[in-house]
Parts: sequence; structure tokens; C-alpha cells
Amino acid sequence: MVSSPDCVREQFKSLQKEYQQQLPSKIGQISEIWYRLLRWPERVADWEKLHCLLHRLVGSGATFGMRELSETARIMEGYIKDMMASKSSPTAAQQTLINNVLDELKQMAIGPHWQVIETRVYPHIDERIQPRKNIFIGEEYQKNTNSNKLISLIEYDEKQANDLAVQLSCFGYQISTFKALKGLEKAIEEMSPAAVIMDIMWPEGQMAGTEMIRGIQEGRNSPLPVLFISARDDLKARLQAVRAGGAAYFHKPVDMGSLIDKLDSLTARETRDPHRILIVDDESILANYHAKILGKGGMVTEVVTDPMQVMQSLVDFKPELILMDMYMPGCNGLELASVIRQQDAYVSIPIVFLSVETNVEQQLTAMHLGGDEFLTKPIEAQHLIAEVKSRVERSRIVSSFMERDSLTGLLNHTKIKERLSIEVARAKRQQSPLAFAMIDIDCFKGVNDIFGHLIGDRVIKSLSRLLKQRLRKTDTIGRYGGEEFAVILPDTDAKVAAKVLNEIRSGFAKVRQLAQDDHEFSVTFSCGVAAFPEYGDANILNEAADKALYQAKRSGRNQLALAAAND
Ligand code: GH3
Ligand code: MG
Ligand code: MG
Repeated sequence: MVSSPDCVREQFKSLQKEYQQQLPSKIGQISEIWYRLLRWPERVADWEKLHCLLHRLVGSGATFGMRELSETARIMEGYIKDMMASKSSPTAAQQTLINNVLDELKQMAIGPHWQVIETRVYPHIDERIQPRKNIFIGEEYQKNTNSNKLISLIEYDEKQANDLAVQLSCFGYQISTFKALKGLEKAIEEMSPAAVIMDIMWPEGQMAGTEMIRGIQEGRNSPLPVLFISARDDLKARLQAVRAGGAAYFHKPVDMGSLIDKLDSLTARETRDPHRILIVDDESILANYHAKILGKGGMVTEVVTDPMQVMQSLVDFKPELILMDMYMPGCNGLELASVIRQQDAYVSIPIVFLSVETNVEQQLTAMHLGGDEFLTKPIEAQHLIAEVKSRVERSRIVSSFMERDSLTGLLNHTKIKERLSIEVARAKRQQSPLAFAMIDIDCFKGVNDIFGHLIGDRVIKSLSRLLKQRLRKTDTIGRYGGEEFAVILPDTDAKVAAKVLNEIRSGFAKVRQLAQDDHEFSVTFSCGVAAFPEYGDANILNEAADKALYQAKRSGRNQLALAAAND
């Protein structure tokens, strides 16, 4: 039988569709082998397999009309080939490169909107060893998104597995998917994922998932963080999950927001930042001694022996408490405290005086002028640590009420603007670039109108979560208004900021939001970016980013606009 051209086209289309559906798992497999190789680079067979899979992807992608995907796979294939030839473990720069390419491949595989956000230029092979500065910045982002966030997803239903994997990868997790229970224990032991998501029902049995996990948990020293997912919602299934050491249970369809929340809390390492203490004392031996004590107590310190340098240190070091000597040449502690308190940004920073002063009247004056506590030298190490710690803890709680938005935990409007001024001043001094972005959720009124305010709030939370996960620790995120966010990216120029935010934008568009009755929908945002030094001060920068955001909205939303330098 001879097929008509139309029929052939139809067949091709359906094959193409099938191919596109398989892509996430194909790329998942490639990513899985790559991460395995990072742990065990000596595994020659894995290198060969990786090379072979990539090689295949180059060919099949091109065949099914996915030129970009094919080209990207070719780039990765080339890199892998070089690494195989050099027979050495991948360097940090090489790892970053491959991770970036993998991310790109994943984005392309997600479909169905194969929209190329930006053509990325990969450096020539010789440049890889010494990456350019903006690639280092990329590496920092990479570190943030990829640090031990490997999740093993054990799901029988291939479609659901792929679906979940894609959603999770939007939140910065690396997913390795297993579609069978056989050999699982060994695989988990080898990969040591940060958490496991396990379906309960399997062809092997209604409770095969919990039984499997129970077996694995028994053989371990420390329990494996496991989240169960299931179409069953009965008490028996839930009970079995608890008995198998499950940390959480999600009824299908899984509410992604709650799943991510749980994964975040299970996989978070010690994320609490150490307390930051500024020590001001003209006697450097003493200052350093106190710094050592506080350092032993787990705090980070900076010592200033010249009181005139304090203002600089407040900006650069961002202390959470100042430990100050009372009597210093040039300017005494009381005067210095008053000067610090004159500035809005430092009105609430705790100041603890440390002095040999035993005169109660003097001590009271110090308190009156803005000191919070008066400690007498010499002070016992444990006492000093306890005093300083409890002060900072208390101040963290108070400031989180004053500075943070209660829904998202992000900095509020006033605070983010304040931070922008501080960061711009620093960028000026250090002659480094700084980018500022304004983000506004598209057509958000419609989300509220259709799904209700509560679901709207969840969307806001999901964007804040995504921003926190994808940006670096040194970036500052604020909730600027209702559905508006602002981001400060120090040491980042407009181009790099645009790239990073564009990636977040396309990730957010792929996040499936869940409404009542399991109805799913997605939401997009628009973004405006402006950068210092093109825009020379905080207000101008803010205005320029706002204008760019307006431009992005006017051009059709779900896009990013860079402020034009001649605005
Ligand atoms: P555009 O794409 O032009 O930004 O359209 P939009 O609908 O997002 O913009 P508009 O400014 O008209 O509407 C913003 C909506 O955001 C109106 C307001 O009710 C809603 N909103 C503001 N803050 C919150 C909040 O905290 N929670 C919820 N659920 N909605 C909020
Ligand atoms: Mg708005
Ligand atoms: Mg809006």
C-alpha cells in the first residue's frame, strides 16, 4: 500500500508528538548519568553511554524538526567527547557548562511551547577552563539551584512521572525517575538523593511502594526522607505510609505548592545565616579577642578600630549587632551610637556597649543615647556569646515583623527601596555593576476573579518561592506591592540579569497552579530590568526598571524588557 503524502505527514506528526513526549525522560536519563559521573568519573561505561545517548539525541532531534535541541545536544556531545579524551574528572568550569547545557535541553524538552528565549553563546573550548566573569556569575546561580537537590521519583505511570519531573525541575530540583521497583534499593544507595517521592500503588501490589520503602529504611542508619504520593486516600494507605517512615503523604493529583514546600523543608541544609557582629574598639588586641570569642560561638565578625570607618562597615558588612567600646579617640561610643541612630536604616540595629565603665550614671546615659545593653569588661566568654546571641535573635524576630511581608516572607516595599539605595551606594564605591528588576504578574486580577483570592495568594507565594530558589543568596528580593516584586542583583550587569530573570520567567510560566476541583492553570509575569551604572542612582534605576516593565506589558506581557539607556 502506498501512503498518500497527507497520510505520511500525519504519521510523521504523530511520531513527532510521541518523540516530544519522550523527550523529558530521554533528557532525564542523560542528566542522571551525568550526575552519576560527577560522583564516579572513573566509570568508563557511563561515559560511553552518555556519549551515545547524546549522539542519538543530536540525530533524532534534527530528524523531528527540533533543530535547536539537536544543536544544543551536539554542543554537549562535543564537550563530553573532550572530557572523555582528557580522561580526567570534570573541572568546576566544565561542570557548570554542562549543567547549563543540560538546563537548556530540559527547557527545550518541556514543550509544547518550544520558545527559544535567547541564543546562548557557548565559549570556545579553550575558554572553558578560564571562564569569563559572567560565566562565574552563572556558576553561582547554578550552585544555588543545584546544591544537593537530587530527588528520586519512583512512579509507575510514565506520564505522571514525566509530568511531575518537569514541574519539580521548574523549582530547581534535579530529578531521577525510576519506573520500576526492581534494583531500587541499590540505586538509591548509590545516588543518595536528598529525598524520595514514591508512589504507593504498583502492579506488584496495592501497597508495594510502602513495603519497598520500609525495607529500604530498615537497612539504613539514618532514615531516608520519603514523600508518598497515591491515588488512594484511605486511612489504611496513610497508616502504612507513616509506618514505612514517610515524611509526608500527598493525594493525587498532587498539589505542587505543598509538595515543593515539603521538599524544601526536607532538603534544606542548615540554612540559618550566622549572626553578623561588628566590633568597634580602638584597641585592636581586645577587639580581635572578642571577635575570636564570638567566632567560637558561631558568629561572623568584623573588627573596626577606627570609629570613623564605622559607616562604611555598616554598608559593606551589614552587621546585625554592633559591639562597641565606650571610649575611643576621635569620637566616643556614645557619640558614635547617636550618629548611627540618626539614620533611618540603622534605627533598630542593636548596639551593645562593652566598657570598663562601672559608673551606673554613665551607663544609663549610654542607654539613653541609643545603646541597648551595657556589658562590663572583662566579660566571660560564655556570657558575651549568650548576650550577643540573644540580642540578635530577638532583633531578627522584631525586624522580620517590621521588614517582611507576611504572605511571602520577602522584604516589604519600604525595605527593598532602602536596600536598593544601600546597594547602589556600594556599587558606586566598588565600581561594580548592579541590576534592578521589577516583576509584575500578568492579568492577575483575572486569576482572583476566576479562582478566588486564596488561590491568587498561592500564586503569589509560588512566584516568591521560585525567586528565592533561583536567585543567589546575595540577591535581594522584595514584594514591592500586591502582585509586584522587585529584585536587586549586585555585581550583575543588565545582560546577565536579563538572562537569569528570563529563565525564571519561562520556568514560572510552566508551573502548574492548582485551583479548586483540581482545575489547573498557569500564570505568567512581565519584567523590566535596568542597571547601574547606566542608571546612576537608586531612584533613577527604579524609575527605569518600572518603565521597562510597562514596556514589557505593552508589548504583550510574559516577557522581559531592558531599560533603554537613552530613555
Ligand atoms: P497586568 O497584566 O496589567 O499587570 O494586569 P493585572 O490584572 O495583574 O493588574 P491590575 O493592577 O489591574 O490588578 C492587580 C490585581 O492584583 C488586583 C488586586 O486585587 C490583586 N492583588 C493585589 N494584591 C493581592 C494579594 O495579596 N492577593 C491576591 N489574591 N490578589 C492581590
Ligand atoms: Mg500590578
Ligand atoms: Mg499585574
